Amino acid sequence: MGDVKELLRLLSEIDDSLVSCMRCGMCQAVCPVYAETGLEAHVARGKIALLEGLSHEALKDPQAVMDRLDMCLLCGSCAAGCPSGVKVLDIFLKAKAFLAGYLGLPPAQKAILRGLLAHRKVFDSVMTVASKLQGLVTKPANEVIGSSCAVFGASLLGGRHFMPLADTAFHKTMAAKSLPAKNGQPTVAFFYGCMVDRMYPRIGQAVMKVLAHHGAGAFVPDAQVCCGIPALSAGDLQTFEKLVKENIAVFADQPFDVLITPCATCTSTIKKIWPEMCDGLPGATRAAVKELAAKTMDVNEFLVKNLGVAASATPSRDARTKVTVHDPCHLKKSLGVFAEPRAVIAANPGMEIVEMAAPDACCGCGGSFTLKHYDIAGRIGKRKRDDVVSTNASVVAAGCPACLLQISDMLSKSGDAVAVMHPVEIYAQTLDEARPGTGGNTP
Ligand code: SF4
Ligand code: SF4
Repeated sequence: MGDVKELLRLLSEIDDSLVSCMRCGMCQAVCPVYAETGLEAHVARGKIALLEGLSHEALKDPQAVMDRLDMCLLCGSCAAGCPSGVKVLDIFLKAKAFLAGYLGLPPAQKAILRGLLAHRKVFDSVMTVASKLQGLVTKPANEVIGSSCAVFGASLLGGRHFMPLADTAFHKTMAAKSLPAKNGQPTVAFFYGCMVDRMYPRIGQAVMKVLAHHGAGAFVPDAQVCCGIPALSAGDLQTFEKLVKENIAVFADQPFDVLITPCATCTSTIKKIWPEMCDGLPGATRAAVKELAAKTMDVNEFLVKNLGVAASATPSRDARTKVTVHDPCHLKKSLGVFAEPRAVIAANPGMEIVEMAAPDACCGCGGSFTLKHYDIAGRIGKRKRDDVVSTNASVVAAGCPACLLQISDMLSKSGDAVAVMHPVEIYAQTLDEARPGTGGNTP
């Protein structure tokens, strides 16, 4: 059992937040898991009802409560539409931390989180070795997407198609770890996130290209570590707090104006979840967390609001590439960012946006949810795939690497020739020709 004082603190915070749920059931209409299972136990209201007796339930059958909490994408759809403003994600994350503290983490999860994720150099070495060996057990699956699948034992992976690990991590490809600001432009700290570093270095390179183009300064420390959301989703508050403290040591007191990330999940974690979940940290760290959270922005929002990127006033007269846009839950529902990615894409005069049905419907990834409940994640993702394909777009864009991974899996398995890109990559493609109309200061 974890620290009793800490567990009681969590329990009291959970109790305080639960009272605002008035049991209206409006979360049923928006919950992607409920849409698949139809079970009240899987929607926010059902979980909240269970958590009301958490101290009692934790003594009776804590694993059953944890299993029910695990049946959640942490997409925030319920919180975004809740008329009472119930902080559903905070409640669920605190309840998971309470239960994991009470039960202890399963050994395999503990080894991955505390032995691997919590130690940057170990994580880096394991990923580097895995990237070298992956060719022995995987083969290319879809040329347009760049996905892979297992050579044998595909059923062990649920038949997944996935993005291969990059040969070289993003942080090792950077010629310089900083860029000087020019012409009074702001300086950013660039938090690239684990998935960009290891699976999508091309997104990190696009961000650097765009920053350099606009003369923005950049501070890109490679001592940065995971934002902590995988640990927190598992209830591992200890690893989460360790990672937050390490990131604070890297970024706090540095001279930058804004911290940007190209990952919707990292952005919403640093901006919204860090301050909510940092009560167990020392006072000075808590203050630094709040200061950093206030400076954190999605890269699309930064490009539009701080660098003046705007839709092109001179769209190409040639045949344009059709691109459809998926709104990641952590970008639109958590942060209210959805116009900016579209402006960043439309800054490329060769792109025409065609909206899919329900662009803000969850793609079904949910981080560890897709690992534990791939059948439900796949059913939710298949709807997204059908919506993408119905537009006849040749590109689908999303500002979250986790969504890109899930959408790639769904499209690749269906044999679709639809490229999957981050908006900033599409914008970066315009810069080689440095056309007018892209906004900001062209060099
Ligand atoms: S969580 Fe919000 S939407 Fe769901 S039942 Fe409670 S008050 Fe209603
Ligand atoms: S966070 Fe998403 S999956 Fe979880 S209960 Fe709310 S709407 Fe359903």
